[in-house]
Amino acid sequence: MDKVSTEVRSRMMASIRGSNTTPEMKVRKLLHRHGFRYQLHSRNLPGRPDVVLARYRLCIFIHGCFWHRHPGCKYATNPSSRENFWQSKFEQNMNRDTRNRNELLQQGWRVFELWECGIRKPDSELTWLLDTVPDCEQRYISWPSFPNESPNGP
Ligand SMILES: [Zn+2]
Repeated sequence: MDKVSTEVRSRMMASIRGSNTTPEMKVRKLLHRHGFRYQLHSRNLPGRPDVVLARYRLCIFIHGCFWHRHPGCKYATNPSSRENFWQSKFEQNMNRDTRNRNELLQQGWRVFELWECGIRKPDSELTWLLDTVPDCEQRYISWPSFPNESPNGP
């Protein structure tokens, strides 16, 4: 009995892993596995944050590097056609993100922006999050950051 149920369970786990590989799911699972409980896409908060940990007064956004323009990231590329169209699209996205972030911070929320390129790395590189979620000193984090690189390259 035990052996069967173990096999069934591991097969279930494997299928769950296979079907939920988005960056957002990865973050949610990591938090959940370590006992953190959260709400998703809270409509009544600016920007509908992807993950809200009310107990820690923390909103987490999982941002795609291209659409949200991860500063210094190799994935925040500039399309070579229709440059004006993309430029205004990107500016709208960035302005919206900034506005939402500032509103949340003003309302006393903490805000973490997690970029997809960082989340795609192995779980071990995400464990800092587990210590940082309960750390109320950390009001705003944008991770990973590339402080020495300019968005447009050298
Ligand atoms: Zn990135």
